[in-house]
Amino acid sequence: MEVEYTIRRVRKTPFEELSFTNNCTLGPLNKPVATVKPGEVIEVETWDCFANVVKPTQPLKEVLERGVPLHDNPVTGPIHVEGAEAGDALVIEIIDISIPDMGVTTVVPGFGGLEGWLQASPPLTKFSKIRDGKVVYTLNDGREIEIPVKPFIGTIGLSPSSEAISTITPGKHGGNMDVPDICPGNRLYLPVAVKGALLGLGDVHAVQGDGEICGTAIEIPSVVTMKIDLIKNKRIDWPRIESPNEIMTVCSARPLEDAVRLAFLELIKWLEDAYGFERYDAYMFLSVAAKARLAQIVDPLFTVVAKVPKTLLPRALTRW
Ligand code: CA
Ligand code: CA
Repeated sequence: MEVEYTIRRVRKTPFEELSFTNNCTLGPLNKPVATVKPGEVIEVETWDCFANVVKPTQPLKEVLERGVPLHDNPVTGPIHVEGAEAGDALVIEIIDISIPDMGVTTVVPGFGGLEGWLQASPPLTKFSKIRDGKVVYTLNDGREIEIPVKPFIGTIGLSPSSEAISTITPGKHGGNMDVPDICPGNRLYLPVAVKGALLGLGDVHAVQGDGEICGTAIEIPSVVTMKIDLIKNKRIDWPRIESPNEIMTVCSARPLEDAVRLAFLELIKWLEDAYGFERYDAYMFLSVAAKARLAQIVDPLFTVVAKVPKTLLPRALTRW
C-alpha cells in the first residue's frame, strides 16, 4: 500500500531574525526551530554563506566598506531529532539539493588558502550564472568556462557536547567541512553528542574544487531534501560518508598532515569494526587501495577525506 505524505519544510530564519547564537554557532543551548522523527524526510531552506547579503547590486567590497553586517556562514537550525542521545550516530541521507540560477564566489582579504602567498587583493566578487546544469564561470576578459554543477552541503553539523562552536569551524561534530561528497545519493553519519542531536546546515555550493583554495566556491542559497535517521548506541568519533561505491572518513585538523593521519586512522577503525580487518592488515590494505581528497584548506581546521571503494571490500559483518 502506498503511503502518502507531504514533506515537511524547515524554513530558514527570516533575515531580520538571524542571530549569531542560533545561526552562526552549533551548541547545546541553541533553541530548536523544528523537531523531526527518525525516518522522516524534510526539506530545509538554507541561506548562502553570506546570508545573501552579497548580491549583484551590492558586491563584497561595498558590503565591507559600508559596514553592512555579514552573517558569516549561517545555518538553518538547530533541528531536534527525537530520541537522539549522546553515543548514537545520526544518519543523513541527502536526496536533493536545489540550485538557483546564480551563485557567487569571493575573495575576502585575510581569508583564503594562499593568503600571504599572493599579492594582497581588494575584496573581489564574481557572480556566475547557472544554466542547463552548468556553472558559467566568466573570466575577466569575458571568456566563459562551463563547469558541470555538483551541488553539496558545505556546512552540516551537530551540537558539540558542552561548548558551542562557530559554524566556520569543522570538527568531530561536522560543521564547515566543505566536502563535495556530502551530496545527493550519499549518506552522512555524524556522532551525536547531546540529546536531540541539534542539527544545523547551510553554506551549500553548486560546485567546488578540491581545497576550496580562494575560500569560497559557487555559493548558493538552496533547499535541501534529506531523510533523517538514527543508529542507536553507535559511537563514531568523526563524520563518515557512504556513497553507493565508497566508504569515506572525514577529519579536520591543522597541520594538514594531521587531518590526513586522522582520516586514515578512522578508516582503519571502520575496516576493523565493520569488516573484521586486523589493524595492521587494514593499514597495509589502505596503503595499496585508498584514495584521499583534500576538501578544504581555508577554514580554521583543514579537512581531508580518506576513502576506499566498496568493490574491494569483503562483505560487511555489521551495517557498518
Ligand atoms: Ca564552507
Ligand atoms: Ca562556502
